Amino acid sequence: MQSITKGYINGAFVALNGTQVFDLISPTGHQKIGEVTLGDETDTQRAIAAAKAAFSSFSQTSVAERIEILKKLKDAVSKREDELVEVMILEYGGTRQFCRMSIQNAIAAFDNMTDTLRDFEFQRKAGNTLVQLTPVGVVGIITPWNSSNSFICSKLATAIAAGCTVVVKPSEMSALQTQLLTECFHEAGLPKGLYNMVNGLGNVVGNAITNHPDIAKISFTGSTVTGKQIARSAVDTIKRVTLELGGKSPNIILDDADLEQAIPQAVFGAYMNSGQACIAPTRLLVPKAKLEAVNQIAKAAAAQVVVGDPGNETTNVGPMVSEKQFERVQSYIQVGLNEGATLLAGGMGKPEGLENGNFVKATIFTNVRNDMRIAQEEIFGPVLSIIPYENEEDAIAIANDTTYGLAAYITSADQDRALHVASRIDAGRVCINGFKHDPMAPFGGFKQSGLGREFGAYGLEEYLEPKSILI
Ligand code: NAD
Repeated sequence: MQSITKGYINGAFVALNGTQVFDLISPTGHQKIGEVTLGDETDTQRAIAAAKAAFSSFSQTSVAERIEILKKLKDAVSKREDELVEVMILEYGGTRQFCRMSIQNAIAAFDNMTDTLRDFEFQRKAGNTLVQLTPVGVVGIITPWNSSNSFICSKLATAIAAGCTVVVKPSEMSALQTQLLTECFHEAGLPKGLYNMVNGLGNVVGNAITNHPDIAKISFTGSTVTGKQIARSAVDTIKRVTLELGGKSPNIILDDADLEQAIPQAVFGAYMNSGQACIAPTRLLVPKAKLEAVNQIAKAAAAQVVVGDPGNETTNVGPMVSEKQFERVQSYIQVGLNEGATLLAGGMGKPEGLENGNFVKATIFTNVRNDMRIAQEEIFGPVLSIIPYENEEDAIAIANDTTYGLAAYITSADQDRALHVASRIDAGRVCINGFKHDPMAPFGGFKQSGLGREFGAYGLEEYLEPKSILI
């Protein structure tokens, strides 16, 4: 059992002023696997002061110097890739396949920013004016527990590329992962004060960051509810905010699609990260005329889903991160039953033999109407809703009939047709014929899925202020 008692401030692991201790509980067996001392406002202020002091010199570094730091970070994190995967599986119960991909994305974030920097112009012309893109200042980075390290790495890499310094507040449920990652950063030998990290609760450390006048920008990934609170707090000091929030992504199967291929892919896709993924395609939109065939294939696919020990290579769905999350998913399954949706697979209760952990059955509802709560609200568990549509126009209307707009998926035998549908979908990312990820493409949400973009040049610009110099 690991006990984490320190934060990371000004280039060193330091004792905290905060004394509250948070227990880390295994999602697979409910035993205590560690504990973390939570920081308080004083600790947060110390971290912000260190980042502010470091900003004056770090903001003046050359692109070559920043690339050198990104390279060191990549090497340091790569060296401990296997350990990072293991601790992720242990701490939040992510499946081995998902955790490995997540850590590889974390490592790749440093290379992606290096590539972005190579072509990026920090000085431009607009009319007769010289425009300099200058680092925004100290950035507060607030992250959720799912894929925590990959969010920290991609946000940190972007901040470094821009010339910003950071204070990170990870989810208290990712303390073990963040500790190991911070050890990697320490071993890389960063300039003091560039990266600071304080474990703590959202309403304490998170709140202190979002209210502090020396924080120029918040980069947040988490729920829409928290994102709104952060935006409200940030307004007093007119902080820049990037918000990566929740989703209820539609997966449109057009009537020319090969169902035998598309439907199993849709089922397994909806269960990515055990259903605890913001981009999970949780609304499966299918032609009404093909609903019976879809149901049969989907039911057979659900029977193939392996729910169980997240450490096993073949497991598709691990436990929910916490008992609270398990209860939340159960309550949504009850809501689906109450709303009159047809249960096609899974349902309430734990799968046989997995009674000790936060395991949920791989669940599918069909005959779902888009105005039902299970189709409108983010469940964040392995629950898929199949929604029939009349025609293409109806499919587009249903896809857009949501407060969210993070991702969308379209499957069709005709690429031009799929492109036409994609152009009418209100989402920050639309994938055609499969689940794709391009770390150089802008990522972010329409509507209540977020504000601003991450990754590549679009992401970098969010950490920069344009300054017009008229000569
Ligand atoms: P959450 O919103 O509960 O917490 C996220 C972080 O915010 C945590 O570190 C938390 O401590 C902190 N926080 C909470 N209240 C705060 C406050 N008042 N001020 C400042 N910080 C505060 O989210 P979660 O349960 O950890 O993560 C799941 C959510 O994250 C889901 O809604 C999911 O869709 C979303 N998410 C979005 C993306 C994306 O890229 N769009 C990616 C992953 C997860």
